[in-house]
Amino acid sequence: MRSAYDDPGGEDRPVLRFIGRNLSLLAFLALSTAAMLAAYFYFSPTSGVAEVVAADSSSGAYSAPFIKLVPAKPVRQRLTQSPGPIRIGIISGHKGNDSGSVCADGLTEAEVVENIAVRVVSTLQTRGIAADLLTEFDPRLEGYIATGLVSIHADSCDYINDLATGFKIAGSGFTDSSALSICIEDAYMRATGLSYHANTITPHMTDYHAFRQLAAGVPGIILEVGFLNLDRPLLEGQPDLLAGAISDGIWCYLDQVRGGVTISSAALPAAGPSPGDGQ
Ligand SMILES: [Zn+2]
Repeated sequence: MRSAYDDPGGEDRPVLRFIGRNLSLLAFLALSTAAMLAAYFYFSPTSGVAEVVAADSSSGAYSAPFIKLVPAKPVRQRLTQSPGPIRIGIISGHKGNDSGSVCADGLTEAEVVENIAVRVVSTLQTRGIAADLLTEFDPRLEGYIATGLVSIHADSCDYINDLATGFKIAGSGFTDSSALSICIEDAYMRATGLSYHANTITPHMTDYHAFRQLAAGVPGIILEVGFLNLDRPLLEGQPDLLAGAISDGIWCYLDQVRGGVTISSAALPAAGPSPGDGQ
């Protein structure tokens, strides 16, 4: 259909008619294209600039060092990931430092508990467990790495009252030591018939110096094997029974550490780096 504005002569030239009708739009498109081309060529690098920049990077002007500073921090995770060979530390209470509680006739806590501690260590070693007999302030305790630590002490030789009998256990406040604590409590109570004397656990026991010295992640407990006064016949006269009970408790704990799987000491990895462990 033809409109009233159609040029009668333009019938045969539709292209010219189109240009005529859209002249302003086409002019705008031409100008903007020219402006974009001008901007493109104005900001384009001259040929060879990229190569110059690359060559110049050896001077360091355009490069940053590939160094990321990482603050040093202790690798504590590795202890739980690969526990290493089974090892138990036994502290012979007061040994190398003082005598501990002293009875009227001269019997000392240090000698009573040493009698027990040496037997625990030899029992464990007989069963194929690496065990260290440690003094009270043994230098090896600083950063000591072990599967567990048991410090053996005894309570006062003074007569307090008829209730001053029984044993008690305090665990490290730094590492969860409940598995070790429960195993020894069970075994010790069963073998000795002593009651668990919970209400005389002092802050001195829970904040025991060795707990602060152990490597992070090493469970530790302090065991007061009984009172030197009322429990003396048992403590002084039956060290084998007491040592056997403590060793059984440690054995129970080690079974839990090993996931209930009993492995012989020959199957344990040798100490020191092994092939494939070098990182
Ligand atoms: Zn003591």
